Amino acid sequence: MPEGDTIRRLADKVARRFAGERCQRSVTRDPRLVGVDLAGATLLGADAVGKHLLVRFDDGRTLHAHLLMTGSFRVGPAATEPAWRRRIELWMETGRLTGLDVPILEVIRTADEEAVVGHLGPDLCAPEPPDLGEVASRLLREPARPVAGALLDQRNVAGFGNLYAVELMFVVGVSPNQPVGTIDGLDELLGVGTALIRTNAARGPQNTTGRRLATDDHFVYGRRHRPCPVCATTLDGWSERDSPWQRVSVWCPSCQRSTPSRTVDLARARRLLALHPARRDAAFPVA
Ligand SMILES: [Zn+2]
Repeated sequence: MPEGDTIRRLADKVARRFAGERCQRSVTRDPRLVGVDLAGATLLGADAVGKHLLVRFDDGRTLHAHLLMTGSFRVGPAATEPAWRRRIELWMETGRLTGLDVPILEVIRTADEEAVVGHLGPDLCAPEPPDLGEVASRLLREPARPVAGALLDQRNVAGFGNLYAVELMFVVGVSPNQPVGTIDGLDELLGVGTALIRTNAARGPQNTTGRRLATDDHFVYGRRHRPCPVCATTLDGWSERDSPWQRVSVWCPSCQRSTPSRTVDLARARRLLALHPARRDAAFPVA
């Protein structure tokens, strides 16, 4: 699922592969891009802001994309998907950049990028680490809001998707339903989350446990009704329809109890992430 770390890695890959190359031909099969032709423009670079991808060209234009749940980009080889799939294909000098079924896809003036990303909170995967004090104060503007919903609101902080909203809360032993204003240790929670997503953005693939096996790369995400990996209590959760923040959620009713005020369990986070390289990230809270 594309979260901030995935988009950051995609932007870096596009820039590494195609920066300085001229677009030879652009093919669009997408009613939203009728009349758009990027042929002749040189790709300057690519950037990610939160979950938005910005690919910039030397003629003052930017290809802006947001993958939501369904979109994908292919960097290098020609896509093999059927021709009727909604797409944009840029034939670069040494390969192709293909966007498939991208829900938000448009070409804008580079000077107007602010209009599509200006509303976002601090970007977790920006080259410079975000100001976590600023993130905390944005989260606390609505103190009664469940913490998972507040973390997913990109106006508060840009980059976390549902996977992090679930996994991070498990790691620090706080319920995703906990009102954000009642959490003791919000700064530490943000430090752990930032260290996790920045480490995954820099190293990939997306992994919240630090274990190598692909089947073991998350603690509880997608495991509702199965035993908690720490205490074996059956995991509880929301379906997308029932969830107050409209996303599936999972938590352990024993490890992540909701109480009037809940303290972030940093010892637990250190233990669970003992193998994860995020422990060495500058944002990870020190003892
Ligand atoms: Zn548990």
